[in-house]
Amino acid sequence: MMRFTFNNEELQYFSEFHKFWEAHHKEILNAGIDIKQAQLAAHALSNATRKYGREIFRVTSNKTSHEIMTTAKNKKQKPVASWLDYDFFTEERKAIKSLTVIVRTAGCQWRNCTICGYWQEAADVTQADILAQLEDSLKTSPDEEFILKIFTSGSFLDDREIASETRREIAKMVKRRKEIKKLIVETRAEYVNAEKIEDLKAVENLELAIGLETADDFIRSKYINKGFSFEDYRKAAKITRDYGATVKTYLLLKPPFISEKKAIEDVITSAELVSGYSSTISLNLCNVQKYTLLEDLWRRGYYPPPWLWSAVDAIKEIARQNVVVISDPVGAGHKRGPHNCGKCDQRIIEAIKKFNITQDLSVLEHLDEIDCECREVWHALIKYDDFLFCSQTFFKKKV
Ligand code: SF4
Ligand SMILES: [Zn+2]
Repeated sequence: MMRFTFNNEELQYFSEFHKFWEAHHKEILNAGIDIKQAQLAAHALSNATRKYGREIFRVTSNKTSHEIMTTAKNKKQKPVASWLDYDFFTEERKAIKSLTVIVRTAGCQWRNCTICGYWQEAADVTQADILAQLEDSLKTSPDEEFILKIFTSGSFLDDREIASETRREIAKMVKRRKEIKKLIVETRAEYVNAEKIEDLKAVENLELAIGLETADDFIRSKYINKGFSFEDYRKAAKITRDYGATVKTYLLLKPPFISEKKAIEDVITSAELVSGYSSTISLNLCNVQKYTLLEDLWRRGYYPPPWLWSAVDAIKEIARQNVVVISDPVGAGHKRGPHNCGKCDQRIIEAIKKFNITQDLSVLEHLDEIDCECREVWHALIKYDDFLFCSQTFFKKKV
């Protein structure tokens, strides 16, 4: 029983409500956990995370509402990330600095690729916020010539993310800043048309990066769920080139549901088919992003990320086709990213990075000198691929 002291008088209850509360608070709060309710709640939270990203769970209780609003506003005017690096400037076949800015926008509209969780960086931002984000990143831009890469975790040519006016504004800014030698933006194929490229006509060296992933329509639609065809890509690439811009094609090394060997073969064949449209091929080594189907497969042991040996093999083969190929080893050496045994990973990562800015094949050929036992394992995996993954085909070949 509760007891209170009021004006030196001891009371059992402050009010009838308190009396009622003591007797019935358990039913009112209904603190018991019911499995069905818990599942419903888990489902709702999972949907919310997929839709709005993990930001919605951030604790803000020790801030005033003014602070919360200011932080939110500031956040909208800050890019997701920006960093300086070196990149291969294809037009002059040399390495120059690059500034990559991941701009926070409404995010990718498609949001259905089995491998991608980038759209989680989406936010409800205005076009003014987007320009402010860019301005903020350019504060750290180099004084010498550099490549500017503006990525949106979606499509730069999607009006819902970047309005036509904003694109024009950005193009003017690029033109004004003489140190910017080239602008690279990413887009899905369906947004490429003459009108949108026209918005960027002030940019001297414009490159559109298109995430084709593979030239194989079956793999792209069934395993990646990309939502556009090779023909859509081909049309987009043609329009881009007709308007004097260049195309960078993203190919994905090892989508889900295919073996290591098939993955290598797929990117090599795809490179042959896209090299006529692309000034650069970017070989993206698949890494396991959060809240994706790929992550579910990986957790259940149905998807191992690609070996770094496979990446080296594929890059060498593609480079021999006389096309510029780069490969940013994102997440390499980690369990969610492309990796080998752990002992030889770093040397391979360094070599790939060096190759990116030199296009010198001997850098990768020197890796043959690495005497790591995991290489034998990788060789065996490739050699017995048919036996391991398609035993029927293997035995047919033998008889
Ligand atoms: S891979 Fe590209 S198109 Fe697919 S969901 Fe991610 S951002 Fe969108
Ligand atoms: Zn090794």
